[in-house]
Amino acid sequence: MTVRVRFAPSPTGYLHIGGARTALYNYLYSKSVGGTFVLRIEDTDLERSKSEFEKLQIEDLQWMGIIHDEGPDKPNPKYGPYRQSERLEIYSKYAQELIAKGLAFYDFCTDEELEAMKEKATAEGRDSHYDGKWKHAEHFAEAQTRVAAGERAAIRFKAPHKDFILNDKVKGSVTYPDGMVGDFVIVRSNGVPVYNYCCVVDDMLMEITHVIRGEDHLSNTVRQLMIYEALGAKVPEFAHVSLLIGADRQKLSKRHGATSVNLYREEHYLPEAMCNYLTLLGWSHPTEKDIFDKSELKEVFSLERFSTSPAMYDLEKLKWVNGQHIKKMSNDDLIALVSKEPGSEFFNKQTPAWKNSAVEILKQQVHFLSDIIKMIDHLVLQDTLEMTDQLKDILSWETTPKIIDYIHSEVSKITTEYITEAELNGWMEFVKKEMGVKGKPLFMGVRATLTGQDHGPDLKILIPLTPVSIIKKRVAQLKK
Ligand code: GLU
Repeated sequence: MTVRVRFAPSPTGYLHIGGARTALYNYLYSKSVGGTFVLRIEDTDLERSKSEFEKLQIEDLQWMGIIHDEGPDKPNPKYGPYRQSERLEIYSKYAQELIAKGLAFYDFCTDEELEAMKEKATAEGRDSHYDGKWKHAEHFAEAQTRVAAGERAAIRFKAPHKDFILNDKVKGSVTYPDGMVGDFVIVRSNGVPVYNYCCVVDDMLMEITHVIRGEDHLSNTVRQLMIYEALGAKVPEFAHVSLLIGADRQKLSKRHGATSVNLYREEHYLPEAMCNYLTLLGWSHPTEKDIFDKSELKEVFSLERFSTSPAMYDLEKLKWVNGQHIKKMSNDDLIALVSKEPGSEFFNKQTPAWKNSAVEILKQQVHFLSDIIKMIDHLVLQDTLEMTDQLKDILSWETTPKIIDYIHSEVSKITTEYITEAELNGWMEFVKKEMGVKGKPLFMGVRATLTGQDHGPDLKILIPLTPVSIIKKRVAQLKK
C-alpha cells in the first residue's frame, strides 16, 4: 500500500503553530515510509477564506521545509483539484448518490422550525436531534418535486442507529455510542457543503491512507465514520495527536504569546529549530535525542511514539532549542545568516578570518542570531566604560593601576587596526615576569584594562576581534 497523507488547512488566518505541527507530522510520516504528502485547501467557508492566507500559509510551510508532493500548485490529474471551492460539483454528485440510496434527504425546515423542534424535544425530555418530517421516505417524492421546481433545501445525512468504534493510532479504541449525533446537514441550503462531509469525500477520492490531525477533531470523526460507511469507502487509519496547551494547562491561544508561525519567522528563529521543537511536542525520539534536523527522522519517525497527554508549549524550551541549532551550525552558514541581521554593518565589514573567529566563540553563548550582533556590540564595540562594582573592585587592587599604565603605553604604540594574539601574549608575559603580577590580579587586571568588564570570552580570542581604536578609548578612561 502506498501511504498518502494530507495536511488540510483552512485559509482563514495565518498558519498556527498547532497546524504547523500537524503538517510536520504528516510530512515526517510520509518521508519515513516513502509516501505522498498532499496539501489540500479547505476553503468552503467562503466568507472567511482568503487566497492571501492560502499563500501565506504555504510560504510558512515552505520556510519550515515542509514541502508537499501534491497540492494546488503541484496537481496530480488523478486526484485534483486540491481546493475544496473547486470541487463543489464532486460534493454535489456524491450528495445526490446518498439521496438516491436513501441515506440522505432534502430538508426544507426553516431555522425557526428547527429551533422549535429542539425546544419541544428538550421540554419533553428527549434528545434534541432532528426529527422533522423530511427524513421519512413518504416525503421524498414531494421533496424531489420542490427541488426540481427550483426551491432550495439543505441536504441532511441520516445518522445510522448504532455504535461507531474508532481504533485510533494515538487514542486507542474510541466508542461513539448510538444516538450521540443526530441527522446532520452535509450541504447547506445555499449549496455550500460542510467540512465533515467534504473532508470524507476528498480523503476517499484522494486515496488518503492515514489522517494525522489534532485531537480537537476527534469529536468530528464519528460523523466522518458514518459518511465513509455510507459511501462504501475504506476508512483510513486515524492518529489524533494531543492538544497543545500553555503553562496554565489551557488550550494554546494568543494569550500564551505568539501562536502563528510567521511571528517566529519574523523574529529570525531558525526553521530547523522550529521543526525540531514542534516535533517534540507530542512525539518522542526512540533514543530520547532532543536536537535533530528533520532529515534525520526519516529512519525513526513512526506513529507509535505519539504521547497521549497534552503537550505544553514552552517558549523557553524553544529558545534553548534555537540556541542548540545555532551551535551546531557550520561557521560559514552562521556567518551568512548573521550578515543579514539588522545591525550587522560592522560585522559585514570584517575579514573572513575575523567573522569566523567571532561566530566560533559567540555561538556557544546565544539563543538567537540577533544575540550575536548584540554581543559584538557589547563585547567588541562598547567604548564607554560602565563603572560596575566588580570593575571598581578590580581597579582598587594595588597592581591594577600599574597594569593600566603599562598597557596604556603599549597600546598607544600600535598603529594597526587590530592587536594580534602574539602582542597580547607579550603584554601578559611582561606583566607577569617584569612586573611580578600573577594569577587573578594578572588576568583580571588585564581583562579589566582592555575590556572594562570583569568577565567574558577568552581574551586571546576577544582582544584580536576588538578594534584598537576602541581599546584605546577604554584604557584612556581608566587611566584618568
Ligand atoms: N480544515 C480542517 C482544519 O483546519 C482540517 C481538519 C482535518 O485535518 O480533517 O482544522
